[in-house]
Amino acid sequence: MHALESRAREVLRSVFGYDDFRPGQGEVIAAVLAGRDVFAVMPTGSGKSMCYQLPALVDGGLTVVVSPLIALMRDQVRQLQGFGVSAASLNSANDDDENRAAWAALRERRLSLLFVSPERLAMDGLPTRLKEAGVVRLAIDEAHCVSQWGHDFRPEYRQLAGARSALGDVPVLALTATADRATREDIAAQLFPRPPETFVHSFDRPNLSLAFAVKDQPRRQIADFLSRHRGGSGIVYTSSRDRTEVLAEHLTGKGWRALPYHAGLDAGTRARNQDVFLQEDGVVVCATIAFGMGINKPDVRFVVHADMPTSIESYYQEIGRAGRDGLPADTLTLYGLEDMAFRRRQIDEKEIGEDRRRIEHRRLDAMIGLAEAATCRRRALLSYFGETEVNCGACDLCRGGAKLYDATIDAQKVLSAVVRTGQRFGAAHLSDVLTGKASDQVRRLGHDAIKTFGVGRDRDRRAWTTTIRQLFAAGALETASEEHGGFRITQAGEAILLGRERIALRAMPEPAAGTRPRRGERAARADGLDEPTAALFEHLRAVRLSIAREEGIAAYMVFPDRTLIDMARLKPATAATMRLVQGVGERKLDQYGQAFLDAIRTFEG
Ligand code: ADP
Ligand code: ZN
Repeated sequence: MHALESRAREVLRSVFGYDDFRPGQGEVIAAVLAGRDVFAVMPTGSGKSMCYQLPALVDGGLTVVVSPLIALMRDQVRQLQGFGVSAASLNSANDDDENRAAWAALRERRLSLLFVSPERLAMDGLPTRLKEAGVVRLAIDEAHCVSQWGHDFRPEYRQLAGARSALGDVPVLALTATADRATREDIAAQLFPRPPETFVHSFDRPNLSLAFAVKDQPRRQIADFLSRHRGGSGIVYTSSRDRTEVLAEHLTGKGWRALPYHAGLDAGTRARNQDVFLQEDGVVVCATIAFGMGINKPDVRFVVHADMPTSIESYYQEIGRAGRDGLPADTLTLYGLEDMAFRRRQIDEKEIGEDRRRIEHRRLDAMIGLAEAATCRRRALLSYFGETEVNCGACDLCRGGAKLYDATIDAQKVLSAVVRTGQRFGAAHLSDVLTGKASDQVRRLGHDAIKTFGVGRDRDRRAWTTTIRQLFAAGALETASEEHGGFRITQAGEAILLGRERIALRAMPEPAAGTRPRRGERAARADGLDEPTAALFEHLRAVRLSIAREEGIAAYMVFPDRTLIDMARLKPATAATMRLVQGVGERKLDQYGQAFLDAIRTFEG
């Protein structure tokens, strides 16, 4: 056991160039090496793949890895080969040469890792042939695909329990980043005949900063946020296809390399835009949620939601695409009253059963709750996933965003205006009534004659809109389904109106997560590097890009950002010191070491 573990560390160092395990990896790898059935639930970016890659190199034999996406498995095989690992895949995108090479390696028992799709594993006696090739372990990636409760159900995953016995009852390692407890239990029951050894690693991603801001001037908010991330790659999610294109054009006009991505683009454009994002630095993709599955780019530096997501699950999954390399990454979510109403309407208009609709509304409520949270954002997020945490001290709210005040009287004014205008008007009209603005509509409807008219003159329209939004988020108001954007009062709202309950709301001004640097002041670098180190890092990035272009591979396959940053800090002058850089293993040292040593030596900052 002890010998295996030190051998595991040695391989981690010499092949992958890493000094240490990421949190959670060590225990899982030890259990796998001990030959047990293992179910590992770890968040995206925690290094799940290492949990089967490393054992495959430590105890020999063939590990078969089931993966649902062909693009991902091809990517991983290329990456492993870059580390000098004997890996191959069998999939429908292979050409004859690739297939021949894979089979030859299998026959000669030279292969450490073979990636297959679940349907391929079920075909023409493959398990028997893999048994002959000395398979010792089955790893099932994205294991939530086996569950109908998960978000990416794949019926072929149901055959994997059978495949396991056909492989000679080898131990199984199942991996997923799905947080939902019911789905986890379902996965374990479907894939394992007996309860496996289960590891659930925290869903906390300390390197992701979390921030929300109320939509004010969204384009400016997005541009300000992006200006802190020049040179980094990121994703801006929007709620509609049109908006991805409009925003990409706008950002391009501002000097960004911005590309749209949505399911309505033709396949060629989609693939091209995705490739550019994967292969190069400093590209912003403006996308619908269609973008993401199959993106395992480790150095995504930021994710912006230009519109509020539909649920915490999707929010978490989408921000989770940032910072997989463990380096700091920033997220910002913009939201407003229109988003809340729009998402409600979307759910109401879906053709789904009532149970499902209720669940989706509940999920949306939770998302709104997170957006309107008054204390630590991370704590609110993790408690949704069943983890109890203390305040993180690093989110927008911990850094001093929200102050609460007793808003009972303001709330009563709003609720009274809602009731007296007939429970069908939206925030704009209600704010007019409250501030005493006799608009055409107000006069036509005689709302300038009601008792509430002008009771809110002490605050401006923006303040009232904010209160209305928070009351909606707190469940004191709900949408009047007949009217677009109109509100009616709920039971909880009545309790406040009648003075039976008090309510605390956030005071203005609201947390401004997108605060722009003052004129003349340079935005601080998000990665915290000092000027000369940052300049060298940028230079090394350029060297990396030219190598990647020459070899026709993604930039991060040469070296990830983390490695280049470490290199820029250490400035190695010899191969021996280069070896100390995180992510420089023997093979990579051979291949790229000299080019980067030269780049460092000749760099004049
Ligand atoms: P996941 O599948 O959990 O989302 P990956 O397996 O893709 O994450 O790993 C994310 C990144 O972390 C990869 O670039 C990988 O090389 C890197 N990584 C994995 N293990 C370690 C480690 N022990 N030290 C440093 N980096 C690691
Ligand atoms: Zn916090």
